Amino acid sequence: MKLKVQPAQVQNNLLSEQLVWEVSRRRNFAIISHPDAGKTTLTEKLLLYGGAIQEAGAVKAKKAQRSATSDWMAMEQQRGISITSTVLQFEYREHLLNLLDTPGHQDFSEDTYRTLAAADNAVMLIDAAKGLETQTRKLFEVCRMRQLPIFTFINKLDRPSLTPLELIDEIEQELGLTTYVVNWSIGTGDQFRGVFDRRQQRIHLFQKTAAHGSKKAADTVISLGDPRLESLLEPELYHQLKEDLELLDGIGSELDIEAIHQGKLTPVFFGSAMNNFGVELFLEAFLDYALEPTAHESNQGEIPPTYPEFSGFVFKLQANMDPKHRDRVAFLRVCSGKFEKDMVVTHARTGKTIRLSHPQKLFAQDRETVEVAYAGDVVGLNNPGSFAISDTVCVGERVRYPDIPSFSPEMFAFLKNADPTKYKNFNKGVSELQEEGAIQILNSTDESKRDPILAAIGQLQFEVVQFRLLNEYSVETRLEILPYSVAQWVTDGWEALEKVGRLFNTFVAKDRWNRPVLLFKNQWNLEQIIADHPDLELSPIALPP
Ligand code: GDP
Repeated sequence: MKLKVQPAQVQNNLLSEQLVWEVSRRRNFAIISHPDAGKTTLTEKLLLYGGAIQEAGAVKAKKAQRSATSDWMAMEQQRGISITSTVLQFEYREHLLNLLDTPGHQDFSEDTYRTLAAADNAVMLIDAAKGLETQTRKLFEVCRMRQLPIFTFINKLDRPSLTPLELIDEIEQELGLTTYVVNWSIGTGDQFRGVFDRRQQRIHLFQKTAAHGSKKAADTVISLGDPRLESLLEPELYHQLKEDLELLDGIGSELDIEAIHQGKLTPVFFGSAMNNFGVELFLEAFLDYALEPTAHESNQGEIPPTYPEFSGFVFKLQANMDPKHRDRVAFLRVCSGKFEKDMVVTHARTGKTIRLSHPQKLFAQDRETVEVAYAGDVVGLNNPGSFAISDTVCVGERVRYPDIPSFSPEMFAFLKNADPTKYKNFNKGVSELQEEGAIQILNSTDESKRDPILAAIGQLQFEVVQFRLLNEYSVETRLEILPYSVAQWVTDGWEALEKVGRLFNTFVAKDRWNRPVLLFKNQWNLEQIIADHPDLELSPIALPP
């Protein structure tokens, strides 16, 4: 769609020149992985190479602290840490990188998916011994839906692994994603000798680093034609490498930046984050191949990142669990123009004018005030209840970015109000938390079952809702877990289905817009229903009406 809004007279060319430069040097990305693949380690190493930290270890220490305890104090701490690690910004070779944190398994919730709505690129991190794992597959599906460029980093090559060919094959076959190998693993486990970088046609020899690679590693590089190579590699590895390279050159895909940007081709890297190995090669290539901030579709047409008027959308809300600091933060992805501290903006949903004071940039434990930000950046805004997920804020002509979809929940529970005299607080709390996007709420179609059904992606969402209802609304609640794990919205064929009456092994609920949602015990039950009702159309994802 062509842009309908015209910016107020562009003040001066300086601003637009500055915008072009700032946008062109930004790269924004999120790491998707299964717990334990090495996300924390890789994040640290990226920061180390980006010069944001001098010595790796800080992020890790916090993670250890976080998993040490599990009481509510720890939950507060956890939340605090999640807040602070929402976005990490660092520079590398004139570029500014924004790494959006997708919470790990303890924090796994809709936030993880929503973060991908604010990301321009994704790095799929895979444990070389395990290959693709469940959480990676789920997050990959969200990336695919959004057509995000995906970079694959295969980690832990220093450990016994699947062969590089097996790993590549799994990505191609199971995800249906074409690969372009940027660097290739020479051996694995005890025999891991390094990687061959196809960009420079050079071999980087692997060296284990001391102390988990807290300092940058020395890099020994030799060319493929170097006569020392044969003595450096065992004969079978040497021959294997030659054979593999012929194979890659012969039947492997060509490098196609356009296809990378469309999410159709994934550049693949091998390495060992713990040993700092392959991290720099990855960063170098990433800067060349990653997508810079691009235009966002809005109700006014596409808004380019260099559009002079500021706009952005909220993709995540964070309530601080610490009762002494009952602040809430709304995380805003900047889409266009220049964000400035204290600027006055329009809240597109309500039309209200608000001043964005105390914007925060969050790095590790420190909160730093943001003075300016550009497309691709994330800003933490004070949120005294005015923001909901997907809200647009803008300057000038009112634009609205599309809503972030509701993702298919996998855990369900009736939420019971323990004290009936508190029903007003209970209802208010439930509806406000739903409004804010903390959790999805469904209702049973059975009139006798009045309790709202919490529908979550991760256990943590249940805990957050119960905790906040108690602390912010003074209501104690109980959960009655429902034995379902798959949700599907009925997009067509509902009338016929309604006539069938009770569906075996299926729970029928309605969402907040009264649309029918079917809950199944498992995938198999879902497939049964599809087989029995060929006219039924279902969708795992619901867009707001
Ligand atoms: P996360 O759960 O994805 O954040 O994973 P972590 O970064 O905490 O890593 C999980 C475990 O794998 C830790 O014990 C790391 O030290 C270890 N690890 C990470 N990268 C590597 C690697 O390249 N080689 C080996 N051998 N271990 C690694």
